[in-house]
Formats: sequence, structure tokens, C-alpha cells
Amino acid sequence: MIRKKIIAGNWKMNKTTTETKTLVLAIKDKLGKFDQVEVVICPPFTALQTAQEALGSHSDVALGAQNLHQAAGGAYTGEISAAMLRDLFCRYVILGHSERRQYFAESDALVNEKARVALKSNLRPIICVGETLAEREAGHMATVVTAQTKGSCAGFSKEDWNNVVIAYEPVWAIGTGKTATPAQAQEVHALIRKTIKQITGKPIADKLRIQYGGSVKPDNARELLNQPDIDGALVGGASLDAESFVAIIKNSVAT
Ligand code: PEP
Repeated sequence: MIRKKIIAGNWKMNKTTTETKTLVLAIKDKLGKFDQVEVVICPPFTALQTAQEALGSHSDVALGAQNLHQAAGGAYTGEISAAMLRDLFCRYVILGHSERRQYFAESDALVNEKARVALKSNLRPIICVGETLAEREAGHMATVVTAQTKGSCAGFSKEDWNNVVIAYEPVWAIGTGKTATPAQAQEVHALIRKTIKQITGKPIADKLRIQYGGSVKPDNARELLNQPDIDGALVGGASLDAESFVAIIKNSVAT
């Protein structure tokens, strides 16, 4: 099964509007016409409009957000709805990132609720799962990742699955410079695909794109992305620099 790779940049809480314009224009310039891989950038909420304007209406680079609130609107001070993201031309939304699970106590049930809202609103969720170092060292990686996958992805319809991306992000590899080895990452990606196959059947599991995230850099991208079940990358730190982000995108294509 050929799955088009998807490389997404998670800018986290970085970049003002001025910096956003500079970075987006540099990414476009260095990327040129390149449609072998799907590319997504996820700036902070405050920079989405600037990013959209800098991308232009016919850009090959899609826009994503880093979170949403599950309610349609109302008295939720400081929050952002799915409709607001669609209004700013977002196509993707990262959900259940480990930083949100850790600092904002997001549970699998909440991530699942947000994902269903995203799907109903025509936003494609990038659902993050991954174990901590303590969980891996205690031999609980498979239990944790399977439970997060099942809990965060419960109740999706067949059509929904066409629009879902899962990102495997071992917490111990995020922003630490420690990357899972290609073999370690492949083992977990295969486990996630097997879990999805048990829930939905082979055709959907075979089509599902599963990204790896955790200190992906230009020099490790090729080997990671050559693994059979790794269909892209969710890139944090290296997505803040046009040269390294575009190098990862170009290195993700099998040679
Ligand atoms: C992330 O935050 O999703 C991430 C993978 O970060 P980094 O690439 O910096 O490890």
C-alpha cells in the first residue's frame, strides 16, 4: 500500500506574526514546487492568518492548528473552536500532544471528544500518542500506546478514518535530541497499525498514515522515514528553521 508521506511542523508557542511571515516565505522559496509529500505547518493561533496570507490561496503547504476546544462556542475564556480554525483555512489540527496531556491534563477521552468535533467540522486531526521514558523502562510501552490509540480514536466512522493521522511521539524523544532508532520507531508504528486493524479492519489500517515525532532532523529523517510503517514526521524544533524543515521534507522521499 502506497501512502503519501505527510510532514507537519509543530511550531508550538513560537513565532510572532512578523517572524511567521519570514519563515513561511522562506519555506515556500526553498521548497519550490514539490508535491511528492504532503506538507503542513502548525503555527500558534495568533499567527494563523499571517501564515495563510503568506502561503497564498494556491499553496501546496496546508495550514494546521495545535489544539481546539471541543465546544462549538460560548463562555470558554481563552479557547478556540473548530469553526474559528476553519474560518482561518486550517485543514489539520494537532490533538493530544504530550505537552497538552502533561501540562493541561488532557485525557484520551478528551482527545477523542476533540477529534470527533474536528472531524465533524472538516478538520483532519493529527492524534498524538506515545509513552514516557519511565513507562518504556518499566516495560509498559505497548500497553500505554495501545490504550492511548484505542481511547483517543474510539467511535470513528469509516469515512472519518480517511481524514485521521496518528503521530507516534515517544515523550522521551520530544525536544531532547534523543531519537527513537528506526527499529524502535518501526516496532511501535507496526503495533499502532495492528491495533487499528483490530478495531476497523485491514483496508482502513493499511491506508492510515502514522507519523513519527521526536527530535526528527535532516540527518535522521531519511532512515526513519524509510521504515515500512512510518508515513511521515511531526517535527518540532527543526520546523522553526526553513532550511532544516525543507531538508527533512526532501529527505523523506525514498531514494
Ligand atoms: C513535537 O513537539 O511534536 C516534536 C516532535 O518536537 P521535536 O521535534 O522538537 O522533538
